[in-house]
Amino acid sequence: MTKNKEKTVLLTKDGIRHDGRKREDLREISFEVGVLDRADGSCLIQWGRNKILAAVYGPRELHPKHMQMPGQAYIRCEYRMATFSVPNRKSPAPKRREKEISKLLGEALNPALFTYLYPRSVIDVFIEVLQADGGTRCAAITAASLALADAGIPMKDLVTGVAAGNLSEKIVLDLDDVEDKEGLGDLPIAYLPNLEKVVLLQSDGIFTPNQYKEALDMLVPACKKIYQLQRKAITDKYSQINEAVQKDLEKESKEKSAKDKDSKTKDDKKDKKADDGKKSKASEKEEKKKKGLKKSSRKKDDKKQASKEKEAKKD
Ligand code: UDP
Repeated sequence: MTKNKEKTVLLTKDGIRHDGRKREDLREISFEVGVLDRADGSCLIQWGRNKILAAVYGPRELHPKHMQMPGQAYIRCEYRMATFSVPNRKSPAPKRREKEISKLLGEALNPALFTYLYPRSVIDVFIEVLQADGGTRCAAITAASLALADAGIPMKDLVTGVAAGNLSEKIVLDLDDVEDKEGLGDLPIAYLPNLEKVVLLQSDGIFTPNQYKEALDMLVPACKKIYQLQRKAITDKYSQINEAVQKDLEKESKEKSAKDKDSKTKDDKKDKKADDGKKSKASEKEEKKKKGLKKSSRKKDDKKQASKEKEAKKD
């Protein structure tokens, strides 16, 4: 006897999805920038139940040398899913899907960077999916672009990713795992929100031309919304650094002024001592001088007396 598995209602008549979201709602997104000490730049993204870590190393010399590009840097991206990231244990060996996603994420990050600034070098972008729940490639690219910014690599723009989907012939935003698997189609994009450029567009499933248009009309504003969160995450991190630097500077200047004050009082004491010494020496000299004068006047008087006596004798 086979049990009939209950089918999830993906979209109610009122337009409510299985997790309570409306059609154009995003899942909750949060970023933590600079979470890894050893990487040049890093970012942990939590997007719904997705948890993804992006780490950036470089720019650094590319090995093997035959892969070096004389006029630009090579963006080497590696997307991996942890064995524990999905309900059924995933084999640790990289699958075709991971290789494909690695390649297309690297290509989508490229237009956001001034790659010509770093000829013959490589910028490594490692992406580890710790927990997957649909839309990992979009979340991964969003986190990777923040990790690149955190590494201090000059960028033309941030890259923002999000997917739309077809649920019961209705276009919805940001599919989770259930919607991704049971829906009619999935359309992920990556977008440069300032340059207004689509750098990745994939389509899996059924979309009519009108549905494509509707999906894009939903995706672009969603990317702009996510971009604001990205900006906030990076500016928050750097304002924290600025505050810490400011505090350090204030502490340093306070310590310096305390030291200066200390050394000034010491110098004053020294000067006073030296002055006192000089004064006592001067008074000693004065006394000696006075004594000398007295002696010499006494001598003069004696001489005068002697000459007077002589003259008296003569008379
Ligand atoms: N998935 C899975 N096992 C795998 C690969 C993917 O369970 O080996 C799940 C995972 O939740 C993923 C979802 O399927 O997020 C959709 O995968 P897809 O290939 O559409 O990529 P994504 O939507 O994550 O960018």
